[in-house]
Amino acid sequence: MKHIPRLLLIVPCYNEEEVLPETIHRLTDMLALLKQQQLVSVGHILIVDDGSTDNTWQMIEAFALKHKEISGLKLVHNSGHQQALWAGLEYAVDRSDVTISVDADLQDDIRVIPQMLTYYLQGIDIVYGIRKERKSDTFLKRFSAQLFYKVMGSLTGDIIYNHADFRLISNRALQALLQYPERNLFLRGLVSSLGFPSAMVYYDRQKRPAGQSKYPLCKMLSFAAEGITSFSIRPLQGIVLLGLLFILISVGVIIYAIAVYWEGETIPGWTSILVSLWLIGGSMMTAIGIIGEYIGKIYKEVKKRPRYLVDKTTEWQDDNQEKES
Ligand code: UDP
Ligand code: MG
Repeated sequence: MKHIPRLLLIVPCYNEEEVLPETIHRLTDMLALLKQQQLVSVGHILIVDDGSTDNTWQMIEAFALKHKEISGLKLVHNSGHQQALWAGLEYAVDRSDVTISVDADLQDDIRVIPQMLTYYLQGIDIVYGIRKERKSDTFLKRFSAQLFYKVMGSLTGDIIYNHADFRLISNRALQALLQYPERNLFLRGLVSSLGFPSAMVYYDRQKRPAGQSKYPLCKMLSFAAEGITSFSIRPLQGIVLLGLLFILISVGVIIYAIAVYWEGETIPGWTSILVSLWLIGGSMMTAIGIIGEYIGKIYKEVKKRPRYLVDKTTEWQDDNQEKES
C-alpha cells in the first residue's frame, strides 16, 4: 500500500464562466469527501485558464482568494485543451503525488474519483475514466467519436476506447510523460503508450450543466487528424501500396490495350496514351510513397521521444565486490 497522497485536480477552462461556480462547488465537496475517507492527505484544485475571453480568470482569482485549496494558472492565449492540460501537469509535478485531470463542464462523472484513488493506493499508476455510454451526446458527436476510436485503434493500437482526458496519473508516470518533448500533443495516446500499470473506471457521461461545447465539428476533426498523424505513419506507407496497386492495374490495362489495338478497333494514339497514363501514374505514386517512408522516419526522429523509460533498478554497487552477508 502507498502513502496517502497529495492530490491535485487539473481543470482546463476556456470561456467557462457559466459553469465554473458549479464545478468548483462540486470539486471542493469532492475534496472534502476524499479527505474524510482518508484517500488523500492534501487536496488542491488547479484551474488552467486557456486564454479565455470572458470572465473566467476574474472568477478564478476570486475563488483562489476565498479557498486556499484553489489556484489558477493563466495561459497567454488560447493554446488548446491538450496544451492547457500539459501546462497543468508541468505545474503539478513538483506539487503533488497524484493528479487527476477533469474537464470544467464535469461531463465526466467525478463520483468515480474515490475509485480511481483506491486503485492508486493499490499501486496502479494510471487510471482511465471510460465513458460507458454517450446518451447525452448528440448523434453526430457519438458517431464521429466512434469512427475516430475505430480508425485510431486500427492504425496505431495506442488508444483506449471511450476514454477522453479524465484520468489519474501518479507522479512517477507523470515524470515519465513530461520527458516527451513533442509539441503535437495527443495526451490520451501518449499516456497509454507509457506502459505503466493501469486500470479503468466506468461512468455515464453527463450533460453539460451550463455553457456550450468548446469543440465544434471543425475542432474535433483537426483533433482527430492530430491524433492519427501524431501516432501513425501508416497513411504515408499506404501511398506505396496504392502506387504498386496502380502499377498492377496498369499491367492489365496494357494487355487489354494491346489486344484492342491488334483487333484494329482503336483510334490512333489511344493505346499509347492509356498505357503511359497508368504506368506513369503508378510509378509516380510509388515514388511518392518511398519518399513518404523517409519522411516517416524523419518525422519519428524529430519528435525526439525518449527511447525507453526505466521502471525500477537494483542498487548500484560501486566497488564490484560481493555483498557482505
Ligand atoms: N478547453 C480548453 N481549451 C480549448 C477548448 C476547450 O481548455 O481551446 C477546455 C474546456 O473548457 C473544457 C474541456 O477543454 O474544460 C473540454 O471541452 P468541451 O467540454 O467544450 O468539449 P466536449 O466535452 O464537448 O468534447
Ligand atoms: Mg465537455
